Amino acid sequence: MSLYRDTGVVLRVHKLGEADRIITLLTRRNGKVRAVAKGVRRTTSRFGARLEPFGHVDVQFYTGRTLDVVTQVQTVDAFALPIVGDYQAYTAAAAIVETADRLAAEEEEPALKLYLLVVGALRALAGGQRDPSLVLDAFLLRAMAFAGWEPALTECARCGERGPHAAFNVQAGGLLCPRCRIPGSVHPAPEVLAVMAALLHGDWPLAEDSSHTVRRDVSGLVAAHLQWHLERRLRSLPFVERRAREAPLTAALGSDPHPDGGEPDIGDVDSDVDSDVDSGVDSGEDAGDTDAGGEPSATGGATPGTAATSVDGHGTGQCAR
Ligand SMILES: [Zn+2]
Repeated sequence: MSLYRDTGVVLRVHKLGEADRIITLLTRRNGKVRAVAKGVRRTTSRFGARLEPFGHVDVQFYTGRTLDVVTQVQTVDAFALPIVGDYQAYTAAAAIVETADRLAAEEEEPALKLYLLVVGALRALAGGQRDPSLVLDAFLLRAMAFAGWEPALTECARCGERGPHAAFNVQAGGLLCPRCRIPGSVHPAPEVLAVMAALLHGDWPLAEDSSHTVRRDVSGLVAAHLQWHLERRLRSLPFVERRAREAPLTAALGSDPHPDGGEPDIGDVDSDVDSDVDSGVDSGEDAGDTDAGGEPSATGGATPGTAATSVDGHGTGQCAR
């Protein structure tokens, strides 16, 4: 049996049998790791409470035949407590860990940048100093940049001509110049694009100086951009796996399977996410699945649409305030 240690954030938790849980962590050195935590649902468990979603923990594992097994847990940052106590922060955090889970698709593929983004975002949410919806949008924009989907916010997404440009098209990848503009583009206010750029680059004073209306439109565009790319990736995946050499992912993403469809409706973000969110974190021993959003999945596979639901839900929570 071989042991290893790593620091990670708990993305989600599933029941396993009577007393065990499968913990999905995004770790600093080993990327996404799924491991069994034995006996953690018993009241006598030494580390059950430390392995709740949003926990930032230092973990010792031993390498099992199928899944690794958690043998020690120390808390690095107890983010869960303040986050779970604030509904808006909680919905933002749930969207963050679910997005991170989706983006870190391959287990044990290093994703240090993504790990640091998740820790930074959860730290900001737990600290309570910033608007949770801005924290979430900053995370999503940077996480999309990590995934190679950074929206074009100054230059034209197609020809690269320098802006400012008025038309924004999610399918095209961001702003479009007058020559490249296609039907179905939206025209966000210049302040919306400025706040998106500020969040992407960490200019908090500019981002926090924005109005509620601007923040709502930012959230709508960010959610639409993320949803488009996540769903695209999932739809493309079987195709890419079958024909990986002849048709690289970029080619698969280049064609538009539904022109005129899927246009973002900025600001209109109603969804039934509340019921999903309410079934999330619960530290009660008999409280069933503590998956922070999304469907329990024995295979760990991504479930189409769940991230989009959480992102929409973030918009809903934000507007309710
Ligand atoms: Zn252009």
